[in-house]
Amino acid sequence: MSAKPLPILAGAKLPILPGATLGILGGGQLGRLFTLAARTMGYKVMVLDPDAASPAGQMADVHLQADYADHAALKQLGEACAAVTTEFENVPAASLIELAAHCRVCPGADAVAIAQDRSHEKSWLADHGFATAPFALIESEGDLDAALADIGTPALLKVSRFGYDGKGQARVDTLHQGRATFHEFGGQPCVLEGFVKLECEVSVVLARNDAGECMLFPVAENRHVNGILDVSIVPARVPDRFAREACDTARAVADRLGYVGVMAVEFFVADGRLMINEIAPRPHNSGHYTLDACVTDQFEQQVRTLAGLPLGDTRLLSPAVMVNILGDRWQNGGPHWDILLSHPQIKLHLYGKEAARAGRKMGHFNVLDADPVAAFRLAEQMRDAL
Ligand code: AMP
Repeated sequence: MSAKPLPILAGAKLPILPGATLGILGGGQLGRLFTLAARTMGYKVMVLDPDAASPAGQMADVHLQADYADHAALKQLGEACAAVTTEFENVPAASLIELAAHCRVCPGADAVAIAQDRSHEKSWLADHGFATAPFALIESEGDLDAALADIGTPALLKVSRFGYDGKGQARVDTLHQGRATFHEFGGQPCVLEGFVKLECEVSVVLARNDAGECMLFPVAENRHVNGILDVSIVPARVPDRFAREACDTARAVADRLGYVGVMAVEFFVADGRLMINEIAPRPHNSGHYTLDACVTDQFEQQVRTLAGLPLGDTRLLSPAVMVNILGDRWQNGGPHWDILLSHPQIKLHLYGKEAARAGRKMGHFNVLDADPVAAFRLAEQMRDAL
């Protein structure tokens, strides 16, 4: 690939080069991996997160320990940084607007506001002609009764805001159960979704720059356990037409949003077709394989889009299987790192979290092998042995 000259966009001081300070809202594992990528490239990093022990704060040059809506902290962050991004969608969109008065912010508040609210997200997708599972917006018991009559059971009731990793959602098999769940969720706005018969799940992580150029990482096939991602397999074992359609659809979503930054689109494959499940305005757990398997990983790509640098090459260097390591593994004395690390094709990434709670993402490992079947076999074996 020939090197392109760096774009200098009118009105923006781009590109932002090493030595400058980049900021991130949120100090979890995604923020940590962004911080490591940015520091590797010679940037300074400032992290805003209220948690004193945040995984990204440990790695940053400066950790501002404050709430995401703290005006003084946002001002300090915006003044110190040439550009700021976010590691999660639940950051107040108002904070991004506030920051934008001081520095470059990507992704923009509009895209984050859509992705952080399931009702907005589903409506936006439907309004723009993207296929989803059947859904209805629920704001009252009356809405729920009507939606259940229309969509039928089984269905899934999901809170519109602040749900993640299967939290804030429950399967509904009867009207009575649906009402009970809606009350359990405090009557807050929800989405009712038809329960689709999944053939598999796939995702696409992409990066889009200010000029509208887009680079897509290879499609990942994802397996979830209890609503939490367990394993990603790359290349995805789906027919080519699904892989192509997933890429085209993800790119179309980014284009329609006018998105700048790294984003992920998660899909269901059900009833012989693709449906969008969710969009994430940030790097994604299902893109962690890129850390070891691609020329550029999703966090370097996040740095590149934020800094206004040309997008990196997303080529897959080796088939890979990513396995998440949850806190559950600490319940009987902790994982057998010695076994895992005795395999030269396995790359371990731990996030520096102290408390190993059930369901908490503590780290992941990537298995690389030129033979995808062998990679999958070793990943399964290590998943069980750990
Ligand atoms: P979510 O938090 O909405 O991404 O849901 C977590 C996981 O639950 C998904 O990755 C699927 O495995 C499953 N799931 C969510 N919604 C549906 C649905 N409408 N039909 C079938 N399975 C679903």
